Order: sequence, then structure tokens, then C-alpha cells
Amino acid sequence: MEFQWITEKVNITCKHIICTDPDLYSYVDKKDLIVYTKNKVHFRYAKNGLLNTVCQSKDIDGFTAVCVCGNEKDILDYKWLIEYRKECIKKHISFYFIYTGKYFYKDKLYRIDVSNRVCQAEKAQLNFIYYPVYDALKKSKFRASFHLKESDQQYIKEKGMDVMTRHAYDFIVQRLKYKLINDGKQTPMKGHPVFIAMHACACCCRGCLYKWHHIDSNMVLEEEQINTIVSILINWIVLELECI
Ligand SMILES: [Zn+2]
Repeated sequence: MEFQWITEKVNITCKHIICTDPDLYSYVDKKDLIVYTKNKVHFRYAKNGLLNTVCQSKDIDGFTAVCVCGNEKDILDYKWLIEYRKECIKKHISFYFIYTGKYFYKDKLYRIDVSNRVCQAEKAQLNFIYYPVYDALKKSKFRASFHLKESDQQYIKEKGMDVMTRHAYDFIVQRLKYKLINDGKQTPMKGHPVFIAMHACACCCRGCLYKWHHIDSNMVLEEEQINTIVSILINWIVLELECI
């Protein structure tokens, strides 16, 4: 696996991570785990088959993102992945799972063909992005007052995150793509988890979108902007669910 390939993969989903360490080039294919900081890349590898030896809180404190790739010889355990992800989310660290490696364990051992390792990792849908705006939002009493209720959590559980993502996309297109005459009043305060997320993330109207996300109120939102807003909302929901 090429170092270049990994950085590209991460940069697609999270542009604020910049990788600058040129020394990594020759090492990467020997390591399981890669931890990115803003200016530096750190990496560690497991001493035994399963990767749990590196899953200690002190290992990730201070990092902005964690990126997990399997390799050719070790078994990557789904349970470990889930625990590690949880820990990252709790610590507000972005998490990426981009490559299963050859051996993947989930209820049973899978041997994954090299052509499927990227898409199988993608299918697991474990990526989590911690947007810096979440820190700013926490400081606003009003924004920080929004939380998912039990009925919201139940709804998410029933429908799944794919449906949440679709709903979020539709709501943004209906309510935010163009500036509406009733701007400021177009998003209900309850009734759907995404509405709660829209208020919590200041993506409720074009006025708030301008104030918090610096998007010109009069321009029509482009596809990329809509997708970023959806991602901010969905990752906020993940953050809420994991931190309750
Ligand atoms: Zn608003």
C-alpha cells in the first residue's frame, strides 16, 4: 500500500489534515495503524495478531485523527475497531477505517481479496469526522442546549444512519439551498433528529449558516456545500449517540 494513496484517501474526507512527513514512504506497508496529526504522522504497529495492544487512551491523546488500515498478516478485529472508534469519538478525534487488510474478524474470520479491501472498509461505515466548529458551538449556551431525546434515538435506531443521511440531505435542499422568504423560521425545533442537529450545528437557516459557517446568504448552495453540511449534521448525531 502506498503512502500517497492513504493520504489521498484521508484528504478526500477531511481536508484539514495535512500530512508532511516524507520519511514515512518506505514504512507504511509494514504498519497496521497510522495516526495523523496536523503536521506530523505517527504510526505504531501491533506486536501480536490482534491490534488491541495499541488501543490505550494515552496513545491517541492530542491527535486530531486516527486512521486504521489492516495489513497482510495480522487479523483486524471488528470488535476492537468499534471500541477504538468509540474512544476516538469520546475524545473528539476523527476516525477513519480505510483498509481491511487480508484477515478481518467479525463473528468469524474472513479472508478478504485485495480488490475488496477498500470497499469492505467503506461498507463498515465507521468513519467519524470531528469538525472544529463543534468546539465553537459548545461555547454557545443556545446551541449547546440541543440534544437528542430518547424518542429521537429510538427513531435513529429504527431507521438507520443511511436514512438519516438521506433525510438530512433532503432537508438541506428544501430549507437551505435557496434563501427562503421566511428565513430563520423554516426549521422546526423538534419532530426529527436532523432538525435538532440543524439547530445544534447552526445549520438551521441561511442567517445562522452565514454567522457560523461563513456561507454567503444570497448564493445558492453548491452540491459540495450541501454534502459538507450533511456531514456536519450526521457526525454531530454520531457524537451525541456515542457520548450519552
Ligand atoms: Zn438559524
